[in-house]
Amino acid sequence: PQRIFSGIQPTGNLHLGNYLGALKKFVDLQEDGWDAVYAVVDLHAITMPMEKGALLSQTRQIAAAFLACGVDPKKSILFAQSSVKAHVELAWIFNCVARMGWVERMTQFKDKAGKDAERASVGLFTYPVLQAADILAYKATHVPVGEDQKQHLELSRDIADRFNREYDAPGFFPLPEPLIKGPGARVMSLKDGTKKMSKSDPSELSRIALVDDADMIAKKIKKAKTDLLGDMPSEVDGLEGRPEVENLVGIYAALSGESVEAILRQYGGQGFGVFKPALAEVTVNHLSPITQRYREILDDPAFIDSVLQDGAERADAISAPVIAEVWKLVGFWGA
Ligand code: ATP
Ligand code: MG
Repeated sequence: PQRIFSGIQPTGNLHLGNYLGALKKFVDLQEDGWDAVYAVVDLHAITMPMEKGALLSQTRQIAAAFLACGVDPKKSILFAQSSVKAHVELAWIFNCVARMGWVERMTQFKDKAGKDAERASVGLFTYPVLQAADILAYKATHVPVGEDQKQHLELSRDIADRFNREYDAPGFFPLPEPLIKGPGARVMSLKDGTKKMSKSDPSELSRIALVDDADMIAKKIKKAKTDLLGDMPSEVDGLEGRPEVENLVGIYAALSGESVEAILRQYGGQGFGVFKPALAEVTVNHLSPITQRYREILDDPAFIDSVLQDGAERADAISAPVIAEVWKLVGFWGA
């Protein structure tokens, strides 16, 4: 059996990177017939400081975005992570399976904790352990994520493997494989071609939000950093050392379905004054129906809640028996 699991944190406005690296793939995989489990990972969201009282509405917003992008709750399971007990339960077991040295290697912690790691929450440190629990509570075999999650996925595999050995349960947990493919797996900041586009970047101009209107999208793309080398290159080699240009071309490719080669054949030798408006148009055309659906769904919180309620029940039905087996394997009293 092949199952995918993936999640998105309710930590602010979704952006083009979340869409291309995650949401769009979630829908493609659903349409390919995968057994898919998708979560709004609110337990993850509290690892970082958060605006008071914002969590609940942000959770509904992310759920609405899943639906607006085309996740179909009749085909896939969509729920809020905190509403299914298995995540927290398995995370504790995995905290005792993972080694300090493994978790200390995670670069996302270093990025997010910043200079003052002493003040970061312990939860931020064990975040990737909870992520392993998210995936393995469903015995998911594949995990569609952006490139930035590759290292965490390797940790999930190590944890699954060590659990299986430690508790003499060969093959109990699958070793989950990342599904990171195609253009859009790593969308970079519009202000810095070496940094990924992020919800947590303080600059609004660094990202295109899924809720941006046409004018805002055009403005952000117009202001996007390029470089002093001038025109667009006509061949792929010409993108080397030009991360900002490569990023814009990659976005164009991911949204239009055209190859990078074809795009460079068309725009090579032209200035950004030509390419950027074309990119803005492709982006607006692709996102505007999604934005419209998103707004409609947000107007109906009762519908969102009913989807999440149904999803929680179906997610629990899969994960609770896995936890029961884990409790037996570990040897807890009463299991
Ligand atoms: P935060 O800054 O709060 O961590 P985020 O933008 O990284 O927010 P997440 O909720 O952590 O968003 O990630 C959701 C999904 O989006 C993950 O699969 C992640 O790999 C993917 N993703 C995030 N940023 C990008 C990006 N710039 N390009 C491609 N995929 C991305
Ligand atoms: Mg992230």
